[in-house]
Amino acid sequence: MRLGEVNLHVIRDGGFRLDGGAMFGVVPKVLWETRARADDRNRIRMSTNCLLVETSDGLVLIDSGLGDKNDEKFRDIFGMKDDDSRLPEAISGKGFSLEEVRHVLSTHLHFDHCGWNTRYDGEKIVPTFPNATYWLERSEVAHARNPTQRDRASYDARNWEPLFEAGVAREFDDAAEPVPGVRAVKARGHNADMCVVTIESGGENAVFWADLVPTIHHVPYPWIMGYDLYPLETLANKQEWLPRAHAGEWTCFFEHDPEVACGKLVESARGKLTVEPIAI
Ligand SMILES: [Zn+2]
Repeated sequence: MRLGEVNLHVIRDGGFRLDGGAMFGVVPKVLWETRARADDRNRIRMSTNCLLVETSDGLVLIDSGLGDKNDEKFRDIFGMKDDDSRLPEAISGKGFSLEEVRHVLSTHLHFDHCGWNTRYDGEKIVPTFPNATYWLERSEVAHARNPTQRDRASYDARNWEPLFEAGVAREFDDAAEPVPGVRAVKARGHNADMCVVTIESGGENAVFWADLVPTIHHVPYPWIMGYDLYPLETLANKQEWLPRAHAGEWTCFFEHDPEVACGKLVESARGKLTVEPIAI
C-alpha cells in the first residue's frame, strides 16, 4: 500500500501459536475465546506480520519474524508448520532481493521478532541481509544478554550476537530514525525497552505497534498480554498512543494478528476504539 511517498509491504514469516491465557492476561477465557479460538492445547493462532518500507533511501525491514534456526521441540511447542511460507520468500514475492534491504529495525529482541536477523551458513551464523545495518535498542541488547528467569525463554542470542561479530549492529538509545520518516520510539510495558515504529510520509502516518497492540483484539485498553513485564505501563502507553493514532487517522499494523495485519481505528457508538481492516 501507498503512504505518501513510500510503499508499505506486509511481509509474513508464517504462523505460530501461543497460549491463549498468556495472550490475554487477566481477561477471562469466556470472553477471549469468542474472538480467538483455542486449539486442544489452549493455543491461539498468531501471525508474524513484519513490515517492509520501500523508501527513496532504500528498503527498511521492521522486525524479521521467527527465522529458521529453531529446533523440532521448539517448533512443536509453538505450533510452527513446516509448509508455511516464510519471510525470504515473502520478500522475493514482492520483487525484492535480500541484498536490497538496507536497514533492519528490531522493535525488541524476543525470538518472534528478530528470527531472520541471522541464518545458518553451514556451521556459521551470518546476517541474513548482507548489506543491511541492523538497528537495535541499546538497553534491550543489554537486557537480552542478561534476562530474568521470567523472560529468558523469549531470547535467543543467535539472533543478535552474530550481528555484532559481523560489525553490522548499530545500537541506539530510546529512539532512532534509520531513514527520514521511519522512527523507532520506546514504548515501555511489554518489556522495559520495546519500541513502536512510526512512519510519516507526505503528510500521512502509519504505526507498527509491535507488542504494544499485537492483534486487533488487544485494542481495548485492559486486553493486555500476560507476558508483559510492566502491564500498567502498557496500559498507560495504549491510553496515550491509541487515541493519537485514531485522531490522526494513522494506518495501524498489527504484527501478530492472523486475520487483520492492517487497519484504521474507528470509534464505536459506545465510544470504544475498534479496527476497520484495510485489505493489503
Ligand atoms: Zn511478539
